[in-house]
Amino acid sequence: MSEPLGPGPHTRVRRLPEKALYDAATVFDIVDAALMCHVAATVDGLAMALPTLHARVGTTIYLHGSKSNALFRAVLDAGVASLSVTIYDGLRLARSAFESSIAYRSVVIVGATREVTDPEEKHRALGAVLEAALPGRSREVRAMSQREENLTLVVALSIDEASAKVSAGPTTDEPDDAALPIWSGTVPARVVYDEPVASTDGAMAEGEVPLADSVRRLRERT
Ligand SMILES: Cc1cc2nc3c(=O)[nH]c(=O)nc-3n(C[C@H](O)[C@H](O)[C@H](O)COP(=O)(O)OP(=O)(O)OC[C@H]3O[C@@H](n4cnc5c(N)ncnc54)[C@H](O)[C@@H]3O)c2cc1C
Repeated sequence: MSEPLGPGPHTRVRRLPEKALYDAATVFDIVDAALMCHVAATVDGLAMALPTLHARVGTTIYLHGSKSNALFRAVLDAGVASLSVTIYDGLRLARSAFESSIAYRSVVIVGATREVTDPEEKHRALGAVLEAALPGRSREVRAMSQREENLTLVVALSIDEASAKVSAGPTTDEPDDAALPIWSGTVPARVVYDEPVASTDGAMAEGEVPLADSVRRLRERT
């Protein structure tokens, strides 16, 4: 088992602790597989959570957004933030509502935040966020302009402590419920990409731009 990242002062799972995992390998696998995260901070006295893209590089999570993003500003002012990711894996349908649940993999991370100002690190972080969304795409898009880079805020969150929770497997009914003629079982779910819809403007209107390799590979994977 890899190095434990928890439980720490903020990351001890209390409910159903048998579903909790704290090792770095499990946490990183879930973070990397998640398509988006929610980052939380206190804005004007209210706890707020914002969905956003993320990329993990080692023990750092990179987030990017507008320089005027209020939540990111709050996250930087506080110097610490929490972030969660959730992967929906399907339905776990028991014979009672009480025992029914969903299958998921989720992670909660708490760590120190800082604005990334070093141009090299900022460039790498922005590339990593794009690659996390679509592997291979950073080699296909045009280079980012200085103006675009100046408008973009990059936040680094250090994975100081983390917890994972994994809910999987068959449902568990009350023993007396097993004889009930009610369908029970699991319904696995996953993200599937449909047929790409090409843009119809500019060079694309000529119909001579082949499908991007990154998109083709994405389709092949699903
Ligand atoms: C998609 C989804 C749907 C869910 N639906 C429900 C629901 O309807 N009702 C319900 O009670 N629970 C639900 N859960 C579980 C929920 O996320 C919490 O685990 C649960 O509320 C119990 O938290 P707690 O009291 O143990 O932790 P808290 O005391 O609330 O939190 C303590 C620490 O435990 C860790 N932790 C708690 N939950 C998670 C988690 N899911 N993943 C990783 N770390 C975690 C965090 O580090 C957190 O800081 C759902 C989870 C997911 C992913």
